[in-house]
Amino acid sequence: MENWRFFRKRAPNAVVAAVVKADAYGLGAVAASRALAKAGARTFFTATVGEALLVRKALGEGPQIFVLNGPSVEDVADFAAAALTPILNSMAQIQMWAGRGPAGLHIDTGMNRLGVGPEELAPAMTALKGAALDLVMSHLACGADVKHEMNAVQLKRFADAATLFPKAPLSLAATAGALIGPDYHFDLIRPGVGLYGSGGLDADNPALAAAATIEAPILQVRDVNAGETFGYGATFAAPKKMRTATVAMGYADGYLRALGGRGYGVLGGAKRPILGRISMDLIIIDVTGCAEAQPGARVEFLGPGAPLDEVAALAGTASYEILTTFAGTVRKTGVRG
Ligand SMILES: *Cc1c(COP(=O)(O)O)cnc(C)c1O
Repeated sequence: MENWRFFRKRAPNAVVAAVVKADAYGLGAVAASRALAKAGARTFFTATVGEALLVRKALGEGPQIFVLNGPSVEDVADFAAAALTPILNSMAQIQMWAGRGPAGLHIDTGMNRLGVGPEELAPAMTALKGAALDLVMSHLACGADVKHEMNAVQLKRFADAATLFPKAPLSLAATAGALIGPDYHFDLIRPGVGLYGSGGLDADNPALAAAATIEAPILQVRDVNAGETFGYGATFAAPKKMRTATVAMGYADGYLRALGGRGYGVLGGAKRPILGRISMDLIIIDVTGCAEAQPGARVEFLGPGAPLDEVAALAGTASYEILTTFAGTVRKTGVRG
């Protein structure tokens, strides 16, 4: 995985873990975990126990798998059975896990989502009774905006809280945090979306390798006269004589309807604008003057020619949503090693 190695170079003194939650952001947790392990990743994060059990099966014994959402009464036994390491996010989880083995601890430094707050740190330490902590972590609320003042505030809070745990490895940064700079790296970074081709920043993303390609075949090619309209709502009229292609891709496949009239497909090495609205299973693109436009030819909607961060910006959403909305479609296309 080229992108895992990108983070390896960015953070040469930190462990580069791999976040594979949400089925590796829709790419398929089994294939992605194997590709990442092959590249050298030895530490993985999932959101849930169910995901972690799949990843354990895919990778076998050895790699450490942290479960970000932590244990619940129902699944606490699964952790031991598959040698999973919970991240403890609350006093209740700390008490539930007491005496069961190594864990990670999530400290909230300003996101107010998961984690024990600063005022809970003293009771948390008492409840942990000296149990081994394999990780002490927190999560940035505003990492996507590298200049946001909240980043430095959270960095300071985390560094202060971490002094209570002098032996534990520390982790603050996900993809965006890892890009802010080395102050944010600590002992371990936790990139997710960066592994799958997005810098995770609001602007000025680094060019990461496309980890998934979404393509669909042309079903029909049509010659259309000036003034004719396309698709539902007849929202686009041909300004001149045009050649168009109807492609077997739609919002039911995960191609967001918001990209109607804004997105593009790539064919013959060029971007071919989407004309009018996107249907459930069909998209119309402008292929005027494109010799490659023949029934059966494959049009790329996400991949090296249609970068994830660019598609996300055109759709007015985050790269995370583009990937997870494509989910099953991405899996059909596969993960690059
Ligand atoms: C999802 C998540 C990550 C990975 O985030 P990216 O922005 O995809 O790199 C890391 N840490 C936590 C706690 C997360 O929830």
